[in-house]
Amino acid sequence: MSERIAVIGAGVIGLSIAHELAASGVPGRTVTVLTELDSLATTSAAAGAIWFPYEAERSPAVDVMLDASLRRFRAIAEDPDAGVDLRDGIIIERAGEPDRSWTQWVDAHEADAGELPAGATGMRTRLPLATMTQYLPWLQAQCHALGVSFEQRSVAAADEQGVDALAHDFDVVVVAAGVRSGALLGDDDTVVPIRGQVVRVANPGFWEFRIDDDGPEGITYVLPRRDCLVLGGTHEVGAISLEPDPEIEAGILARAAALVPGLVGAEILSRAVGLRPARATLRIEEVPGHPLRVIAAYGHGGAGMTLSWGTAERAVELVAQAR
Ligand SMILES: Cc1cc2nc3c(=O)[nH]c(=O)nc-3n(C[C@H](O)[C@H](O)[C@H](O)COP(=O)(O)OP(=O)(O)OC[C@H]3O[C@@H](n4cnc5c(N)ncnc54)[C@H](O)[C@@H]3O)c2cc1C
Repeated sequence: MSERIAVIGAGVIGLSIAHELAASGVPGRTVTVLTELDSLATTSAAAGAIWFPYEAERSPAVDVMLDASLRRFRAIAEDPDAGVDLRDGIIIERAGEPDRSWTQWVDAHEADAGELPAGATGMRTRLPLATMTQYLPWLQAQCHALGVSFEQRSVAAADEQGVDALAHDFDVVVVAAGVRSGALLGDDDTVVPIRGQVVRVANPGFWEFRIDDDGPEGITYVLPRRDCLVLGGTHEVGAISLEPDPEIEAGILARAAALVPGLVGAEILSRAVGLRPARATLRIEEVPGHPLRVIAAYGHGGAGMTLSWGTAERAVELVAQAR
């Protein structure tokens, strides 16, 4: 029996799902990724991208995905070509009773006061961090090797037939279109873009991460990718401009240099903006009422890399369920 599957989206979610669908080796299955943008032009490419449950739903089902993704990234980090490294660093805490539930998955201990901003606490730990300029092409190459095909194509929004237009060519479509997924399906207007701006600087030799999500001057992080330090960030609910804002950038540079003084005057290499696909809950489910099977896989907010492999495992289960 043939099973033609389309995955809409070549961000970290679409690529991970396409990979797992192809890797499951179901006879007669073909997997095609349909994407408007090259993976390096997606929100996923703007990500830091560190494994950490930031701005994502927390529930028992999501906890399973966090765990699955972490285990997968640890294994992937053993392949030097993949662009994933295990990095040491500090999660800075500003709340009186900080949420340390994430330490159920990773070893962590309290950071020394001398490493922290005045008045803050923090946890020192080691987390997977992906150099997206390397990881996304690597993942795409893995997909190619498994027989996944890629088509540059824009699928129309639901008011112009949306995913139903794919029924001639495919039996199943997985919607992993990030912030535009709701518009493609036409039954969900609850996806909210949360704009994030970053600036990438030459690394003067600092190989640890620092994350200060609740910093008094705004969210601040320093993430050592292989090719740069990613300095962030912003958390602008509902903003959609993809143009880097110079004033915001100046603020990011100042906050990052306050956290890591060695960054003062670091050479700017590039800038990026992405729209986090935020939703009160992740939507990973079969969507009835279409002329082909439709699986939704979106709403990852600030944790798409963090949840990517767990999401892919769940999507594969859903595709298998009604076969
Ligand atoms: C500044 C910033 C920093 C971040 N840092 C982290 C981090 O450290 N860790 C972490 O886990 N997450 C992080 N995130 C969040 C993460 O980037 C997102 O959760 C993730 O990228 C969402 O992936 P996605 O594949 O769903 O969407 P996207 O990456 O946006 O990909 C969507 C895909 O769908 C395609 N598409 C959309 N509409 C159509 C259409 N109509 N037809 C065809 N194709 C279409 C696009 O072309 C694209 O290929 C960060 C985000 C930002 C902005």
